[in-house]
Amino acid sequence: NTNEMEIRFDSRSENEGFARVAVASFMTQLNPTVEEVADVKTAVSEAVTNAIIHGYANEVHKVSIRCRISENVLTVEVSDSGRGIEDVQKAMQPMFTTMPEQDRSGMGFAFMEAFMDSVEVESEPGKGTRVKMKK
Ligand code: ATP
Ligand code: MG
Repeated sequence: NTNEMEIRFDSRSENEGFARVAVASFMTQLNPTVEEVADVKTAVSEAVTNAIIHGYANEVHKVSIRCRISENVLTVEVSDSGRGIEDVQKAMQPMFTTMPEQDRSGMGFAFMEAFMDSVEVESEPGKGTRVKMKK
């Protein structure tokens, strides 16, 4: 008894709000609390922002989000086909950022981990990145 959806959109910052609301809307069938919805929206925003600014360095390409609901668990996968991450473990450390000069605080992955029950990152330099999160 699973339910799935998939969206694919241009990596423009104005689509970040759309992506966040699309996932929030899809998860309403789980009867989530206001707090759970807020947590998922924050995590999706962080992952989509990363795809746009780091994955694609603000060039416009496609970002995909796949959502699955199964046995009361929401799985969200945010994927880009951008530059990828050299060292995922290092990238996920709180306060690690490759863009300190642009006022990035390196807290995106830390927020995803704080607000979701699990976060897995698969990435290949030159190929892209997929962030898989569960709530
Ligand atoms: P903040 O999220 O606080 O604005 P940040 O984006 O640098 O800062 P994280 O979101 O934790 O911090 O990401 C850490 C680092 O991981 C980034 O600086 C970047 O180098 C790398 N990274 C994250 N997502 C991607 C991605 N989709 N593609 C390529 N690199 C990524
Ligand atoms: Mg970030």
